[in-house]
Amino acid sequence: MGMFDEIIYKATCHQCGEPLSEFQSKSGDNVLARLTPRQLYEVTKSNTSKLKIYGIEPKVIVELPVFYTYCPKCGSREEFVIKPGRLRKLRIIPVKSNTNV
Ligand SMILES: [Zn+2]
Repeated sequence: MGMFDEIIYKATCHQCGEPLSEFQSKSGDNVLARLTPRQLYEVTKSNTSKLKIYGIEPKVIVELPVFYTYCPKCGSREEFVIKPGRLRKLRIIPVKSNTNV
C-alpha cells in the first residue's frame, strides 16, 4: 500500500529561510521509495509510456512531477516542480502558492 515517495533534496523555506530536507511526492509510484528528483522524473516518465502501451494518449497526463514539504518552523508549504531542461538536465522550480494563477 503506497502513500507517497520520499524525495532527497535540500532547499530553504522561501518564507523564513529554514533549511528543509524532507520532501514527499505523490507523482511517482507512491511506494515509500527514497528518490532523487532525477529518479522521480524518470519514474513519472516511464509511467507515462506505460499508458501509451495501453493506448491512452499520454497527452492527458502531461502533469510534471512535483514534490513538497511543510516548513517545520513557519508551516509554509514549499513545493517544487521538475521540468525538463536542455541537454537532459532537469530544472527544479519552486512553486509559489500565491503566484500560481
Ligand atoms: Zn518557513
